Formats: sequence, C-alpha cells, structure tokens
Amino acid sequence: MLGLMQSQPLLISSLIDFAERHHGDAEIVSRRVEGDIHRYRWRDVAVRARQVAHALDGMNLLFSDRVATLAWNGYRHLELYFGVSGSGRVLHTINPRLHPDQIAWIANHAEDQVLCFDMTFLPLVQAVHARCPTIRQFVALCDPDKLPADSGIPNLVSYEAWIGGQPAAYEWPSFDENSASSMCYTSGTTGNPKAALYSHRSTILHAYAAALPDVMCLSARDAVLPVVPMFHVNAWGIPYSAALVGAKLVFPGPAMDGKSIYELIEAEKVNYAAGVPTVWQMMLGHMKPNNLRFSTLKRTVIGGSACPPAMIHAFRDDYGVEVLHAWGMTEMSPLGTLCTLKNKHLSLPAEEQMKIRLKQGRAIFGVDLKIVGEGGRDLPWDGKTPGDLYVKGPWTVREYFKGEGGDPLVDGWFPTGDVATIDADGYMQITDRSKDVIKSGGEWISTIDVENVAVAHPAVAMAACIGMKHPKWDERPIVAVVKKPGAQLTRDELLAFYEGKVAKWQIPDDVVFVDAIPLGATGKMLKTRLREMLKDYHLPAN
Ligand code: ADP
Repeated sequence: MLGLMQSQPLLISSLIDFAERHHGDAEIVSRRVEGDIHRYRWRDVAVRARQVAHALDGMNLLFSDRVATLAWNGYRHLELYFGVSGSGRVLHTINPRLHPDQIAWIANHAEDQVLCFDMTFLPLVQAVHARCPTIRQFVALCDPDKLPADSGIPNLVSYEAWIGGQPAAYEWPSFDENSASSMCYTSGTTGNPKAALYSHRSTILHAYAAALPDVMCLSARDAVLPVVPMFHVNAWGIPYSAALVGAKLVFPGPAMDGKSIYELIEAEKVNYAAGVPTVWQMMLGHMKPNNLRFSTLKRTVIGGSACPPAMIHAFRDDYGVEVLHAWGMTEMSPLGTLCTLKNKHLSLPAEEQMKIRLKQGRAIFGVDLKIVGEGGRDLPWDGKTPGDLYVKGPWTVREYFKGEGGDPLVDGWFPTGDVATIDADGYMQITDRSKDVIKSGGEWISTIDVENVAVAHPAVAMAACIGMKHPKWDERPIVAVVKKPGAQLTRDELLAFYEGKVAKWQIPDDVVFVDAIPLGATGKMLKTRLREMLKDYHLPAN
C-alpha cells in the first residue's frame, strides 16, 4: 500500500519560490568586483533568476545542458544558481584558481554551452576561449558599459544586457527530482579532475540537513557570510539552505583578505560565517595586532581541512565565537560530519568539551560512516583505531560524470581517501589523507596532529608534515614551517615545543623552514608539491 500524501518533486526552483514568497524582504548584500557594495532582497533574486531562465530558453539550450561560471561569491552568481538549475540546466561552477589548461579541459569535458564570468577573470577567459569550442555564449557578469570593446572573445555579452528586458514572470518546469542540477570537479591532485554531478533531490535533502540545529543551525534570524567560495562545492550548500530558511546573505566578492572580511562582518552585522582555516588565519592575523573585536559574530563553520586547535581556542577564548568543525568533500555535496556536543557533554569540564570539539564531528542524518581495515574488515568505534573512512547516503556520489574513473564504490560505500577514528559516541576524527599517512615502525603518525602542535607555537604561521624514507623506521615525519613575519624560531626550539604534547616517537625528526607552503586551488596544502620542493632533502642522521 502506498502512502496517500502528495507527490511533488524536490526541485531547486521551489527554494527560490519559497524565499521570494516568505522572505522576500530579507537582504542579499554583495561586495562587487567593482569594489562597491550592492544590496537587494530575495524577491529581487527571484525575479532576476527567472530572467536568467528566459535568457537560456532564448538560446534554445536543452534540458541538462551545462552553464558554467567563473565567479566570486555575489548576487549575480546567486541568480545563476537558481535560474540555471531551476530551468532544468546544469550549473557548472569552475574553480578559477585552477591552471588555465585544466579549466579548458574541464569546460570541454563538461561540454559547457555558456560561460558566465566575473571581470576579474577576463584575462583567463581570453586565454582559454579558443580552446573551448562547445561554449556558444560568453557572459561577462557586469553592466553593458563595463564590457571591453576589443576583448577578442566572440559572442560576448554583458550579463545585464543578457537578462535585461527579459520577462519577470516564468513558469519553472517540473521534472524528475533525480535530474542533474549542478556539477563540481574535484581538484584532481591525482590524474584528471572528475566531476560530482548533484541532483535536485540530493541538493534539497542536503539543504534541509545543513540547516538543522546540530549542523549549520540556519534560520531566518541569521545574517550569513559564506566566505567559502560558490565555486567550492556550492559554498557548502549555503545558498540553497539560506533560501530554505530565508536568511540574510552577505557575499565577500573578490575581497577575501582579513581586513575586508572583518569589515564586512561588522558592517553587515553578520552573526554566522563559514570558511576554510586559511581564510580565518588571515582574519585573526588582521584582528590581533589591531586589537579588534566582533560585535555580532557568534558562530563559524570551519572545514575543508583540519581546523587547528589553536584557531578554535582563539575564536572561543579571545573573541567569544563558537567554532563548528565540519568535514566533507566534493563527492558529498559536501557535508558529512559536524561537531556539536551532546546533552551528556554539557556538564563536562571545559577542557573535556574542547577535546570533543577538536574532532571533525558526528554524522549528519543522511550520512552513514564506517572505518575499515585490511581486507575491508570493519574496525571498532573506540576513538583510537584508525581506518579508511567509507561513507554512503543520498547526497554522496554513486559515480562520476561520464563514468570517469570507473565504479568508485566498494559494496555500495564510497571510500573517502581519508583515514579516521570514530569513538563510541560516533565522533569522527580525521588523522590523515590516506596518501599522506606516515607509517613509522609499524605505527601510524597523524600528520594533522604534528601540524596542530606546530601552528600552536606563537612564531608559526603555517606548518605541513610529510614523511621521509628512513632506513630503520620506514618513514619518519618532518615538519615544514613558515614563520610569522618578523618572528624568530629555531629548529631546536620548535622540537622542544613538542615535548609532552605528543608521544616521543611522534615528534618530527626535523624542522625545515620554508618561505611558503604550496597551496592547491581550494586553499589546501599541496603535499605532493612540497615533497617535490624537498626532493634533495635528507633526514639528519641519528
Ligand atoms: P572540501 O574542501 O569542500 O571539503 P574537497 O573535495 O576539495 O572538498 O576535499 C575533501 C577533503 O578535504 C576530505 O576528503 C578531507 O581530506 C579534507 N577535509 C575536509 N574537511 C576536513 C576537516 N575538517 N579536517 C580534515 N580534513 C578535511
């Protein structure tokens, strides 16, 4: 017997309809590429998203055709999120920090038909357009008078001319909720990039889940600043969840430096922000010397790479901001776990609570986790035994776009490539990427633990731990360190700082001071590049 409730497909267009009807006057504030601040409301987003849909129909774009963006976080990008997917096309957010060759490769692989780009990326588009034969229309996200006369890019139109004059009314099509809505290529540090292809259903379920109190806890009372880029797994789904709850959204545009982010938080009374650790490092680095305080910021979600304990402490103790440590990946839309306490933890002393907060957190409903050892055997949830982390659920990939890379699943589970422990309460802690794991004398050393101790030292700006071949122990850790500007620190001082903080055999064998640690397109440390940089390095004999 089937249930007798109405069957209505879960479609992204319903989010913008809802935001328009119920939260039409909630604000969307954007710092623009032009440098000024633009403000309007959810009801304006809805009108212009429908104009986008008309513009795409006018090009005779087919259902599921791909529309790409190379754009910062801003209101026009938001309109494309809803206009492209709502009308049945697939939004392909390209990471502009990728190498131009990779961008051209991705655009061809996705068979993008339209490319919408911020003027910041004009030189990039000039460099790649001739290699992207599938793109029929280039759209510069600007007013007509900002369009360069001789860009050399064929079929270039300004966004405002493109949607201007289009009717404000549009009937969103209804279709199967399993249809593709957007796509995002993984950074492809190994081999060619592969795309996660999200569906309307997976996106809406993820948007519901992300808004839950134990996840991002989003509501119509929030003013949310997604610093995490909209080209980075849909800004962790925040644009969709914000529409679902009617939150105010504040977009930083291209100004991601600490000063600009701090000023935007203060000016727009942001109470909630989300971003990767490197962004917050820059902001705290700006606030401390200038003795600045937050007047409204209360919570921040930090994920994308391990959030160092020193950062969680700084936010809590110095600024009264709660850090929610989150873990996820492109293949998971991206949210997997988020760290909030349970009722029974509330009576624990502060330092016991902190031990829990440092973990990557508990599974969100919709995400199943397990850790496996050799031979695919399930490992115990004892908080100590590390294993390969596997996931499954309705917003985790089943396969990559065009079947790239073959069948990624193992018995229906997706291997994340992360190594983690899970404790009896279900709190997961990442110890490493499997390719970064250091095995020393038969024991695993967590590079994240080694890095966390280093960045807790006041003279250290950034640290990356890698394994070096060792004749006796197989591998031993060393730590590459970038000092804070003007700071003094010697190798021996840093090694002494490890004493008592980790087991003796986990203390790195050496410290290498470097000017910078190479970062990938999503702001993560590129350990492959670091290993190349240190290829002539030899461990000290002892
Ligand atoms: P995103 O950076 O949006 O999470 P990616 O697909 O680029 O997505 O990267 C996913 C990988 O990033 C994870 O598999 C994991 O290795 C790492 N990662 C994400 N969040 C964390 C975290 N909180 N702690 C440690 N590693 C993390």
